[in-house]
Amino acid sequence: MAVMSSKKCIRCQNRKFYKVRRGKLRCKKCGYEFKPKIAGLRIKRVLLKQIIYWFVLGHSIRAIVEQTKISHYLILKIINLLRRIMLRDVPGIFSGTVEVDETYLGGQKKNKTKKQLLKEKLAGKESKRGHGTNKQPVFGILCRSGKVFARLVEDVEAKDLMPIIKKKVKSGSRVCSDTWRAYTGLAVKGYVHRTVEHKEKEYVQGKNHINGLEGFWGYLKRKLAAKGGIQRKYLYLFLAEYVWRYNYRSLIIKQKVDRLMKLLEDFSG
Ligand SMILES: [Zn+2]
Repeated sequence: MAVMSSKKCIRCQNRKFYKVRRGKLRCKKCGYEFKPKIAGLRIKRVLLKQIIYWFVLGHSIRAIVEQTKISHYLILKIINLLRRIMLRDVPGIFSGTVEVDETYLGGQKKNKTKKQLLKEKLAGKESKRGHGTNKQPVFGILCRSGKVFARLVEDVEAKDLMPIIKKKVKSGSRVCSDTWRAYTGLAVKGYVHRTVEHKEKEYVQGKNHINGLEGFWGYLKRKLAAKGGIQRKYLYLFLAEYVWRYNYRSLIIKQKVDRLMKLLEDFSG
């Protein structure tokens, strides 16, 4: 069987191969046979699968290093690769009833950039929204089947959030949000906009609520707190990991491992 691959023949650069025995590929053009490395990693498939299994179970990098005797560097590389895969493995376009909301992560001094520290000093720490602008804003969308999409954003104004909503939510959908000003243009943009006030629980009635996203924010913050502070430059990867874990929470462990393994095999950088 001939297959197209993201891999190139190292002899002739051709991209068409026959799949031959024991996971090997044979170049269709020059006949060169080789066993493709998974995502360019120097590691045996069984061991890689074992590492994914431990990662899915929530083992720390240190524990995996101890178990495998593989270098910390390589384990970290594999796990960050998995996180980058998780970043891409997100729901497509949302429709029906969706929730949108933003929150803030971190805020510890070590997570702040120099620019942010300076900005805070100048601004006297006053937040536009009473949360503390020194923290990293995150924006999320959730559909009623429970799947989440979340990204770090620069700010929480309409210019930051509207383009994401336009891209991820089908026009005509019912969008539930709180009364934050960034969402006021939703009806004009072709959505059925319903607002709720999440400070006061008595307003939660019928279909119009953002309880799903509030549940996800709680989950995310507990997970990040348990990690004990994450460097800001890696925060987007951890966010991707927890979004993925949340979205696939109903899969059994074998299905999670198989899904990641398959995505890793198709991964081309
Ligand atoms: Zn070739």
